[in-house]
Amino acid sequence: GDLNAKVPVDTKDEYGKVAQTFNDMTFRLSEAEEARSRLVADVAHELRTPLSLMQLKLENYQQAGQQISPEMLLRIHDEVIRMSLLVDDLHVLSLAEAGRLSLHRKPLDLTVHLERIVDDVKFEAEENGIALSLYTISRPISVMVDPRRITQVFFNLLTNAIRYTPSGGEIMVKIEERVVDRNAYFVRVSVIDTGIGISEEALPRLFDRFYRVDEARSRHTGGTGLGLSIAHHFVKAHGGFIRVESEPEKGTTFSVYLPHGQ
Ligand code: ADP
Repeated sequence: GDLNAKVPVDTKDEYGKVAQTFNDMTFRLSEAEEARSRLVADVAHELRTPLSLMQLKLENYQQAGQQISPEMLLRIHDEVIRMSLLVDDLHVLSLAEAGRLSLHRKPLDLTVHLERIVDDVKFEAEENGIALSLYTISRPISVMVDPRRITQVFFNLLTNAIRYTPSGGEIMVKIEERVVDRNAYFVRVSVIDTGIGISEEALPRLFDRFYRVDEARSRHTGGTGLGLSIAHHFVKAHGGFIRVESEPEKGTTFSVYLPHGQ
């Protein structure tokens, strides 16, 4: 149907109210429709480039009548894995955006959990000449979360911090047990880096899917452009939120707020 259809509203009676409601509904429908077609266009665009490149490479081999070298096979395999990850990320993201992400919440000691995640990325940080440290209190901090989703949130923030911090830099993960925000208590986990930072203009769009501050650089470093959207939606599904502060060339702090002890 025509999603731009509108009924004239020129009375303040019952008919006018119904007409107004109808117009509000069609407006919301057309917004949802627009979001959906934007998503499809984004996905097509993101998959088109690597697919075209692979197709081209394979056709070149075929035309030259050459055997595909083991190195080439490895590279193609890497590309296929990257595309599969992208499709998986898109799937959970679209569930989360629709509010249909299923959470399997369990009581979790955030201190121990973060120690494990930090340990998992430590090698990659050190390999890139970055010092990574975790600051926490020795007491357990219990939160009611889906461990798998929360792991992905911190993994995304930490791999970004590593990706966008030059060698010689530093990343700190800080846990605070009771932070008050708008009359509610939260556990706050901050990922603080001394990296390239983010300009003020870019900040409002940072959590949009496929948004990259520096398109060329980010693509080169292998991100899908979905990491922060996923983190945002996962934390939101838990009743929390993420804040970001940044200064170009100085560094960035992402703070995850999770509802305190539920
Ligand atoms: P990507 O896969 O490109 O990293 P994300 O959604 O995770 O996608 O991040 C979006 C963009 O935000 C990145 O392309 C990068 O430009 C910027 N960004 C994210 N984290 C940081 C950070 N810690 N420091 C500087 N820029 C960052």
